[in-house]
Amino acid sequence: MHKLLTRWRNRRLWVRLALGFGALVVMMVLVVVLAVTQFQSLAAASEQSMGRDLQRMLRVQQVRHHAQGHGSAMALLLTSPRIERERIYPAVDAEYAEIDRLLAELAQEISAPESTRRLTDLTQRRTQYRETFAEVVTLIEGGDPSSASAMFFRLGQPALLALVEASDALLASEQAAVAENQRALQSQIARSEWQLAALALVALLLAALLAWRTTLRVARPLRLAQLAAQKIAGGDYSARVQVRGEDEIGKMAQAMNAMAQAVASREADIEQLAYVDRLSGLPNRNMLRRLARDLSPNRLSVIMMDVARLRTVNEILGFEAGDSLLTQIAQRLRSVVSSQLEQGRDQVLARLAGGVFTILCVEMDREAVERLRGRIEEVVATPMVCNGHEVDVQLIYGLSDATPAPGMDATGLLLCAELAIDECKRLKRAWAWHVPLDDKLRARQLSLLSSLRRAAGGGELEMWLQPKQCLVSGHISGMEGLVRWRHPERGLIAPGEFIPFAERTGHIGVVTRAMVEAALITLARWSDGFPELTVAVNVSTLDIRDALFVDHVRALALRHKAPLAQLRFEITESSLMDDAERVLPVLNALRELGIRFSIDDFGTGYSSLAYLSRLPVSELKIDRSFVAGADTTGAAEALLRTIIDVGHSLGMAVTAEGVETAGELALLARLGCDQAQGYLISRPLDPAMVQNFLLNRQPKQCADAPCGGV
Ligand code: C2E
Ligand code: MG
Ligand code: MG
Repeated sequence: MHKLLTRWRNRRLWVRLALGFGALVVMMVLVVVLAVTQFQSLAAASEQSMGRDLQRMLRVQQVRHHAQGHGSAMALLLTSPRIERERIYPAVDAEYAEIDRLLAELAQEISAPESTRRLTDLTQRRTQYRETFAEVVTLIEGGDPSSASAMFFRLGQPALLALVEASDALLASEQAAVAENQRALQSQIARSEWQLAALALVALLLAALLAWRTTLRVARPLRLAQLAAQKIAGGDYSARVQVRGEDEIGKMAQAMNAMAQAVASREADIEQLAYVDRLSGLPNRNMLRRLARDLSPNRLSVIMMDVARLRTVNEILGFEAGDSLLTQIAQRLRSVVSSQLEQGRDQVLARLAGGVFTILCVEMDREAVERLRGRIEEVVATPMVCNGHEVDVQLIYGLSDATPAPGMDATGLLLCAELAIDECKRLKRAWAWHVPLDDKLRARQLSLLSSLRRAAGGGELEMWLQPKQCLVSGHISGMEGLVRWRHPERGLIAPGEFIPFAERTGHIGVVTRAMVEAALITLARWSDGFPELTVAVNVSTLDIRDALFVDHVRALALRHKAPLAQLRFEITESSLMDDAERVLPVLNALRELGIRFSIDDFGTGYSSLAYLSRLPVSELKIDRSFVAGADTTGAAEALLRTIIDVGHSLGMAVTAEGVETAGELALLARLGCDQAQGYLISRPLDPAMVQNFLLNRQPKQCADAPCGGV
């Protein structure tokens, strides 16, 4: 039974509905057919019995009628002469024969006990009457009419009357039997009505049961499916439609559950893509923000790390090497963070973009944060091998916490750490805490800025010169002009204090013009004694975007009668990349004046070598971070060699900045670097000392020296 039920439940819904409704229709048809046949048979039966009843009653009445006819004929016999009697006898016999025939037929037809009894009585009465009238006839034919008459009136007429009464009694009994039959028929009709009503009720119950089952099997699961769908739409992917079975609803439930699972796994994938960095497998910026949202900002500190020279590794060793470097750095950082976690410190390590990693530290004071930074420094100190090349990793750290601005949120802290990294890069420092520009400092910078124009006009902006040495001849090939502000109240101000601010606020042009003029005056002065020497001026991106800049330089050169062929402009990689389309025509116009260009701090920006090769650049200045200690580690030496080779392959002279030791100088010479600049050769010289320096270091002109044209 249970098996049968299960098979029924698992049958397809449409089959079950079709079977159910089919059964219902069959029931209904059955009820109708039954009703019609019942009523037809009842009608036929009642018609038949009524016909028979009527005939029987007619016969009983005919018996009465023939008995009376026989009596009348007998009376006629009594008074008629012989000849007349001969004519009457056949009629008397015919009447009597009719009575006999009718009684014989009634004996066949009557079945009711009362009527049977009455018929027997009638038959006896007829026999008595026949005996009487037989004796009367004998007396008549014996010629004794008076005895015959006396006998007829004494015995014959009472016998006839009894016969008539018996037939009346039979008629009454038959009428009662007919009435009884009618009643039986009525009750049979009533029974049939009840039967049909019961059958209709069963069909109705079956229909109700079917409707209830259908509702249960269709409406309830659909309601459950709707609830589950609402939950899934609300993000609860664990919700499942609790409907079993193999019918259409069961299949729909299975499909919905499969869909919920698919949506959940797809959402997990999206979540993974949205919140996890694919390269390192670390949380990304979004994830970091999400995690930080739940933490109190006052308890947070941020260590942000930027992988120095990543761009150079990408450019020179390829992106695969860059990716491998980042993966290895991520692994090492992860090892530091997990050891910290073991010590119960709550930290989140994330990769934000490119070479920028961040650690969000919870409940750590500045000392602990700095210790952690030191630990990271130790861990990344060992060179990493990428694509078969050893690479030295240097991280620049920006640190921030809520100490300067209590209540600052995690996003604010991340921004501060980023600013601290910028500050480090600008000041060439390895790490720094973010120091917000306080009102005093801001006011100081603003007041400096407002007095910058006056300073330029009043000769407060001095150009100090740092020599560049040719590594082939050993001679000084030129000098880089570095601004110093001799402030009447504050003394000598280094460029780091006002150049970035002047660049950000668009005031750098004042400095550039002053420096270009100073460089041209110097070149004009040297044109007699040291005509081969060059002077390089640091030019900012804003200068080369200035449409009047080219004319201004030309006019100054004319005014001071200075050789523009000895003027160099140093531009940082980033400024070249900033606005490539606008920069190129200006560079070409300046190049036509004879000025040559150098790329400053190469390796720290994001330049594309393919793009650099399209620029009119003749010198590549390697940032000092690549030079420092290059003679002591193999990896740094390999990188330096590659950069020098790349510079040469682009047709550029290569100058190394920040050379501080003889070892570095010897290495650079060995690697084929063209020039060197740095404290080892000379610190930047104030204008008064330049002449002496040249006289000591440059005993004779070296116009033919290999570096003379650079
Ligand atoms: P830069 O153009 O890369 O200049 C080289 C900087 O490195 C100079 O710092 C110089 O003093 C320093 N330096 C040279 N040799 C060594 C060395 O052996 N070891 C170390 N540790 N440092 C060395 P300075 O003069 O403070 O200039 C800093 C930056 O300021 C310059 O970097 C340049 O970007 C900018 N700057 C300087 N003068 C001007 C200027 O007139 N105009 C513009 N736009 N920027 C300028
Ligand atoms: Mg420079
Ligand atoms: Mg530089």
